[in-house]
Amino acid sequence: MSLLLGIIGDDITGSTDLALMLGKNGMPAVQYIGVPAESTPAPAAPAAVVALKSRTAPVEEAVAQSLAACRWLLARGARQIFFKYCSTFDSTEQGNIGPVAEALLDELGGGIAAVCPAFPANGRTVYRGHLFVGDQLLSESGMRHHPLTPMTDPNLVRFLGRQVRQADTVCLVAYPVVRQGAAAIREELARLAGRGQRFAVVDALTDEHLLAIGEAAAGLKLVTGGSGVAMGLPANFRAAGLLAPGHGLAAIPPVQGAAAVIAGSCSPATRGQVRVMAAAHPSYQVDPQALLAGEPVVERAIEWALAALAGGPILIYSTDDPAAVARAQERLGPERTGKLVEEALAAIARRLRAAGVRKWIVAGGETSGAVVEALEIRSLRIGPEIEPGVPWTFSPEPEGLCLAFKSGNFGTETFFAKALAMLS
Ligand code: ADP
Repeated sequence: MSLLLGIIGDDITGSTDLALMLGKNGMPAVQYIGVPAESTPAPAAPAAVVALKSRTAPVEEAVAQSLAACRWLLARGARQIFFKYCSTFDSTEQGNIGPVAEALLDELGGGIAAVCPAFPANGRTVYRGHLFVGDQLLSESGMRHHPLTPMTDPNLVRFLGRQVRQADTVCLVAYPVVRQGAAAIREELARLAGRGQRFAVVDALTDEHLLAIGEAAAGLKLVTGGSGVAMGLPANFRAAGLLAPGHGLAAIPPVQGAAAVIAGSCSPATRGQVRVMAAAHPSYQVDPQALLAGEPVVERAIEWALAALAGGPILIYSTDDPAAVARAQERLGPERTGKLVEEALAAIARRLRAAGVRKWIVAGGETSGAVVEALEIRSLRIGPEIEPGVPWTFSPEPEGLCLAFKSGNFGTETFFAKALAMLS
């Protein structure tokens, strides 16, 4: 089986979300954590996802990592590159979505790239270039309070225009074209490319629209967006006779050992999930103020966890409401405070693995990146879906672990219990 589609994800939760989408649509994907070593052979799967932690990295670093991932994937035969970012377009005025997409497009020889973060199953839709989260414009949703990437402009054409070299290379394929289907979208993309446009924000309100956009993207070298728009890509490879029909997700292997939930997301969905789990299971809150004061927060959490683990699944969280997050950020600012919290949760995770935790649920994109690094996981197989966008994943190394990486804003209030129940 040769590699067909190469994916570069700007965080771990988004990458598993994308790998799940491909798997559900009959295209098995192997997920790598970070750019694999040069000596790593091509995966025995038609899709490979390189999960980076580049969403909030300095722009040059995000670009360099993404280009390295792109080159690795191309060298192993990838025929199309997908740049996966969050369905809420998490980024700042400087990037990293624009600069990375631009560098990838340059690397791939130019042309036009589709830009479509829509994921209707999770309430993300794009209409007239504006991103909605449920009934709200992005800028009126909980995303306006995000600790690292507060989103205050819902107009993707304008916002992406500020991130790329030339604002007028970003254009819109609007709903009236999209609803006409794949042929109309393909034609419009070709027309816009002919006018020198490089990034086409594409409206999408339904899965039907995403499938049409996917079909229209068959000839594009670069597709960018959320996992939704990847839904239609496997069919292109099947239609070209390159991908055999079949099942794309692995079954849950038997895994013994303790279970822990680590939550570092402060998004509204995770706050609800933490509340529900804390009401039914032993839970421990990591306090950023105590971390800032140099108190032995990690040691205390571990001491607590080692005693609590025998009683069943535990929850360790730094999740808090926007007012508390703002207070915690006063001294060091969002980034350094975020790092401090991530490092603390990662250190706790490392010790819990040594204490026998084998089943992991991690809430938060950045948080998941920090935890997966601490657990020294290099690759993942993708298992069944827990809730839209979140699969169980399995690590063959260093020992069998089951891991679920949940994007902060994904999932219903009972997500954690539902996920754990699937393992028993
Ligand atoms: P999401 O998926 O919701 O975006 P992330 O894990 O990506 O979640 O981002 C949350 C960021 O907020 C992380 O950098 C995390 O360390 C930081 N953080 C977590 N808890 C707190 C807190 N109580 N105060 C300030 N920052 C926090």
